[in-house]
Amino acid sequence: MTFWQRLRNGVQQLMYGRHGADEFSLALLIFGMILSLLGGITRFPVLDLLGMATYVYSLYRMFSKNLAKRTAENQKFVGLWSGAIGGVRQFFVRLRNQRNYKYFKCPECHARLRLPRKVGEVTVTCGKCKHAFKQKA
Ligand SMILES: [Zn+2]
Repeated sequence: MTFWQRLRNGVQQLMYGRHGADEFSLALLIFGMILSLLGGITRFPVLDLLGMATYVYSLYRMFSKNLAKRTAENQKFVGLWSGAIGGVRQFFVRLRNQRNYKYFKCPECHARLRLPRKVGEVTVTCGKCKHAFKQKA
């Protein structure tokens, strides 16, 4: 066996039955790097320490043998993250369309609705809860 084969076997044995890297661990590593970087720039030792703690937690997750718990954590993180990304994307879509559409929320169920600016005042029926109300565009 060459050195690289032995190294690969060693790593495989070490990681056997362990959770390994996932999206959440990766995000934690990146977040830790940002914290450490900020700590270096601002010379604020607390940020450095927090960055370290984030690395350690990320490593702990990768080497953890509690697969069910780590997988659940990762799913929760991925859900929250894609929700946040979707929210940011929606915000920019609304910003771009502001000139042509009036955005507002349904007073009953708070669903987000929009009307073309040119319609004036109309009665709106919410698509989600069917509540009807007057709205100026
Ligand atoms: Zn509604």
